[in-house]
Amino acid sequence: YRHGEASEVVVNTPDGPVTIGENHPLVVVAGPCSVENEEMIVETAQRVKAAGAKFLRGGAYKPRTSPYAFQGHGESALELLAAAREASGLGIITEVMDSADLDKIVEVADVVQVGARNMQNFSLLKKVGAQPKPVLLKRGMSATIEEWLMAAEYILAAGNPNVILCERGIRNFDRQYTRNTLDISVVPVLRNLTHLPIMIDPSHGTGWAAYVPSMSMAAIAAGCDSLMIEVHPNPKKALSDGPQSLTPEAFDQLMQELAVIGKAV
Ligand code: PEP
Ligand code: MN
Repeated sequence: YRHGEASEVVVNTPDGPVTIGENHPLVVVAGPCSVENEEMIVETAQRVKAAGAKFLRGGAYKPRTSPYAFQGHGESALELLAAAREASGLGIITEVMDSADLDKIVEVADVVQVGARNMQNFSLLKKVGAQPKPVLLKRGMSATIEEWLMAAEYILAAGNPNVILCERGIRNFDRQYTRNTLDISVVPVLRNLTHLPIMIDPSHGTGWAAYVPSMSMAAIAAGCDSLMIEVHPNPKKALSDGPQSLTPEAFDQLMQELAVIGKAV
C-alpha cells in the first residue's frame, strides 16, 4: 500500500502552472481525438478554454486499429497544436507512439501521452522517463492494475517523477452498447496503492457521448483528480471517435454541472 503523501504533478502551461493531484481542484483536459486542421483545433481550444478546461488534447499520431483508417497528420499536426497553444494559453497533451517522434513532440507538448496500446512498450516507457515533460500513462485495455503500476514504475525509475495515471476503460463483452467498461472502482483502489495523480477518460471509457456526463460525475464522486473528455466542433464529421465526442456546447453544459458537484472546477 501507498506510503506517504499524494504526489502532485505541476505542469507549466502558457497560462501558468497547473497542478494535478489529490489536494487540488479538478483539472479537465478536453479536445478532439485527432488534430484535423488549424481552424478546428484553434476553435476547439478556445471553446474548451472558455468552458474551464486547462489542457487541450489532440492526436497528431493516432494508434488506429485499421491501417487504412486516418492515422493522424503527424508532424504538421504538432505545428497546429503549437498554434492552438499560442492562441488559447492552454497546455497541450498529445500522444507519442514512436520514440523516433519523441523530441518533436516534447517541443510542443506540455504533457506527453502514452496510449493504452503502448502501456507495456517498455522501451518507449524508458524513453519518456528520460525526458523532462510530465507523462500521462493510459491503462492498457487488458492490463491489470499491477501491470499498469509497473509500467508507471518504468517511467519513474528512468528519472521522471511526473506521471499521471489515466483509466480509459477495459475490454468488455458488450461492444455494441459500450466500447469499453470504465473501471471507476480503480480510483479508490489506486488511491490505496499509489501516490500518483488519477485521471479518468469517460470518452474512450464508454464510446458514446451520451454516457460521458454521468460517468464524469461518477468519476468525480469516486475521487479522481482529473478528467479527459473528447470534444469536437462537429462530431458527425470527425475523422476519429466522433460518436464519443461532445460538441463544445455539450461540454460547456457538462462543465457547469461538474462545478456544482465535488471538487471545484
Ligand atoms: C486517445 O486518447 O485518443 C486514445 C487513442 O486513447 P487510448 O490510448 O486510451 O485508446
Ligand atoms: Mn480518441
